[in-house]
Formats: sequence, C-alpha cells, structure tokens
Amino acid sequence: RLESRYPDAVDVAVVGSGPAGAAWARTLHENAPHLRVAVFEVGPVLSDPAGDHVKNIADPQARRRAQRASEGPAADPDGDQPPASADGRRGRPGTFLLGDGFAAGGTGLPVGAMSSNVGGMGAHWTCACPRPGGTERIDFVEDLDELLDEAERLLGVDARALAGAPLAGQVRELLGTALDADRPADRRVQPMPLAVRREVDGTGAARAHWSGPSVVLGDVLEHGVGLHPETLVERVLRDEHGAVRGIAVRDRRDGSTAEVAAGVVVVAADALRTPQLLFASGVRPPALGRYLNDQPQVLLAVRLPDEVLAGDAVDEHAGTAIDGSSGVSWVPFDDDRHPFHGQVMQMDASPVPRPDLPADRPGAYVGLGWFCAKDVRAQDRVEFDESATDDYGMPAPRVHYELTDVDAQRLAAAKTAIAAAARALGRPIDDAPIELPAGSSLHYQGTTRMGRTDDGTSVCDVNGEVWGVPGLFVAGNGLIPTETACNPTLTTVALAVGGARHVAKNLATRTEGGDGS
Ligand code: FAD
Repeated sequence: RLESRYPDAVDVAVVGSGPAGAAWARTLHENAPHLRVAVFEVGPVLSDPAGDHVKNIADPQARRRAQRASEGPAADPDGDQPPASADGRRGRPGTFLLGDGFAAGGTGLPVGAMSSNVGGMGAHWTCACPRPGGTERIDFVEDLDELLDEAERLLGVDARALAGAPLAGQVRELLGTALDADRPADRRVQPMPLAVRREVDGTGAARAHWSGPSVVLGDVLEHGVGLHPETLVERVLRDEHGAVRGIAVRDRRDGSTAEVAAGVVVVAADALRTPQLLFASGVRPPALGRYLNDQPQVLLAVRLPDEVLAGDAVDEHAGTAIDGSSGVSWVPFDDDRHPFHGQVMQMDASPVPRPDLPADRPGAYVGLGWFCAKDVRAQDRVEFDESATDDYGMPAPRVHYELTDVDAQRLAAAKTAIAAAARALGRPIDDAPIELPAGSSLHYQGTTRMGRTDDGTSVCDVNGEVWGVPGLFVAGNGLIPTETACNPTLTTVALAVGGARHVAKNLATRTEGGDGS
C-alpha cells in the first residue's frame, strides 16, 4: 500500500493551526523539545512561511487567491469575493459563513463565520491585542498576567508599532480629553497594542509586518514539529476507559483515511468547530456548545475637524492597507465608567470597509467600533445534527441565539457612548450609530468554556483538559467563560500557553518517571 503521509504516532496531536493551535505547538516544543508534536489542519497552506498573515502578501492578486483558498469548500478560487449565501449574506474576505443552521432558534448568527487555512482566522485578523480588564478577566487563572505577557511575546505585540501614524496622536488626545477622567493609568485612551512589527524593506522604506500564526510558531516547523494541511480530523479516538488514544483523519487531497495514535489531543478548531469535533467523537458534556456569545457591535465614522487636519503634514506614503500610517487607538473596557471596548481606526485599517465615504487625505476619516459584552446564557448555543452534515461531512451546526433585554440596554448605552466619543473627535458621518448583525465581531466565545470545577456549566478545567476525558484538551476563544467586550485572541493564546506548559511538564515527568528507559 501507498505510504501514508501521516505519522503512525505522535505524543501530542494538535487540531487546528490558528493562533491557539500554534501557541500550543510552540510552547510544547520550547518546554519539552523531545516531544513528538504534529498539527493537523483542514485548510491549505497559503504562504511561505506557513501561517503568515495574508496582509503581508504584497501582490493583490496573490493575496486575493489566498483569501479565497481560506473560504471553505464552497469558495470560488477565481472569484473577487467570499461565497455568498442564497439570501445574500456574505462573510469578510478570508472567511465563510455558517450554513443553513445559522438561525435554528432566535436570530442566530446571520454572519457567523470561520476560516479554513493554515493560520485560521489568524491569517486574516486585525491584530488588535488589548488586555482584558475588570470583570472581563478570568479570576481563577492565577497566573493570568504572566500568561498574557508570554502571549504578547509569542504574537509579537507592540503598542508603538503604528502609534506614530499621521493624525493618530491627535485622535488619542481628543479622545483622552473626553474620556480619561478618573480612569486608572493603564485603562486610559492609548495606542492599541497590535501584533504588528515595523520593518524596513530592501529600499529602506518602513512597512508593517502583521503577525499571523507563523510568528507564533517561530521556527518549530523546522525543528521537528509536523504540519499536516488539508487534513480533516473527523474524530478523537478513545480507549475502553475513555482516555484519548489518537485521532482519525481524512486526507482532503485524495479522500483516504488514517489513524494517528496520540496520548494527548488538543482541539483548537475554533469556537464553532471545536465543539463539533467533540460531538462527532461522542464527547458531549452538558455545557458543550452552550454559553455561545458574540460581542454585539456598533459603528460610527467621523471626519476630523479641518483645524486638526491642518496641523499635521500629509504623509506621501499613506493610503494602502498595509501602510504603517494605519493608526489604531484603544478606549479600554472599564466596568464602572465605560463597559465597552472601543477600537478607533483609520479607515483603511478598518475590518468593515466604507467605500461610501468620499476620498480624502488618509487619516481624515476615522472609524469607531464599540464592542459590548453579551449577556451570557446557557440557552445560546451551537448544537449539532447527526442526520445532516456540513460541507466537510461533519455533523451540521445549528445555532440557537438571541439578544436579551440586558443586551438591548447595553447596546443602547454603547450607542450613547460611541456618539459622545465621535463628537469629541469631529463631525460624525452617519446620522446614528450602525448596529451590526450578530456574528459580526468574529469573536465567538463560551462553547467549550473553562471552569473551576466540573459542575455542568463548563467543559474543561483551567488547563483546557476536558472534564472526565484524560488527555483531551481544548483551546481557542470557546474557553473564555467571562462576559468580555475586548478582542479575545491575546487571552486565548495566554490560555493555550498555560495548558501547553501543564502538558509539557506532565509528559516530561511521565517520561522521566516511567520505565527508566
Ligand atoms: P482559528 O484561527 O479560527 O483557527 C482554527 C483552525 O482550525 C482553522 O484553521 C480551521 O480550518 C481548523 N479546523 C477546524 N476544524 C478542523 C478539523 N475538524 N480538522 C482540522 N482542522 C480544523 N481577534 C482579535 O483578538 N483581535 C482582532 O483584531 C481580530 N480581528 C479579526 C479580524 C478578522 C477579519 C477576522 C476574520 C478575525 C479577527 N479576530 C480578531 C479573531 C481572531 O482571528 C480569532 O480570535 C483567532 O484566530 C482564534 O484563534 P483560534 O486558533 O482559536 O481559531
């Protein structure tokens, strides 16, 4: 028979190559280099290095091809846009929408989306990495701050990378004057910590390098960590005692199947597909898929006043999506004064493009996005249908999701707050804040939430190990149990580091204390 492209056995199999899977692989390798670690990813490699951010692909056509290649089985490889649903809904470039189960109950997530590629959504993200504050923080993760430090190192986070962009200083000053009163120093208006590095190209020009999971992986792929793209993990396999013994995979290139033995499996397959794989594997704790939350979001655009524009020199090089002039400012979440996460971006950096705005000098228009924390409830959930399949042949997702009265109040307050911030900056372009449909934040959380104890309201412990299934770990935004408004990836990478350190230590102890060989 043809030799399988998969190893027969590894120590740790990681499912999914986004920031969470990449952080697990890197941390395992750094802490226990002797472990055999392999990453299995359903989507293709887009770039060299694998898992790079698509914004770093300079050629627009090549970048478009990479985005289409991330958009799942229904994408048109030669198209200009992501695939649209029959009723006209469309995801952002690099993503594809949930199928017809997007609203099995309530409003659902009309623009709930995923990415299938090496790097996951982390090859397409905006790179904003704010730290959670107040009630956003997970109080039972004792070393959270140190883990966040490490997550910043792995993601290459730098608040100064684009802080000097034209007009960004003026934006922060205007916002700070209006919003900083009584805030603690670390929660005042400030440059957004971004997973971005400033670098100088061959011609001496400065440009931004956006961190994708390739940055998180570092050089581990050159040092023995395996990467298996275009590989659907169909099931996690368990032994007669219920402990993990490996994974069942399907090669998407030729349809062949294989089993890979592994004592530890880490499912980092995003907040919608991690519970899907557990469900398909018969691992169905009561909280699986529940507590689903997406951060309700409002937007408003502003034109800076003429006197502010007049006070700043025009940057000849500004105006492209990957130019360093794209300033991003942060209005941190604050329980008492401002229970929203404010992201203020020069328009060309905004993830929600506004082609309707008139052309002007770069930086003159500023987009404000205010994220709310969702009123988290067990009944908001993704379930899976055993009688129907998605485009990959996995149990089809069915989303039950609704905003509550509490959410309506939070959204109303967010609209008031964003309008006040916009007035502080200049002249709002829109008459009123625009409320985005559910799913827009792309920050889905809660579906495999972590908990202090196995009380039925969580899926895993503080290390990400699934209650009652030794060796099965989960990773990703689905672990976050708190109501958060800030972008989740920094926290997700921090939690992945904590889990991976725990496994590295335990497996090392097991090897050392084993049969002495
Ligand atoms: P993902 O990155 O989604 O990776 C999961 C991977 O698992 C995917 O590659 C998928 O193909 C793979 N997979 C799924 N099922 C299987 C299976 N059965 N077998 C094998 N592989 C499988 N977050 C922020 O914090 N800040 C931001 O500024 C920000 N901006 C964003 C802007 C955009 C346009 C997008 C799309 C996202 C943004 N996000 C942002 C969200 C951020 O990208 C995610 O939080 C992050 O990527 C989650 O990491 P992850 O590894 O858990 O999941």
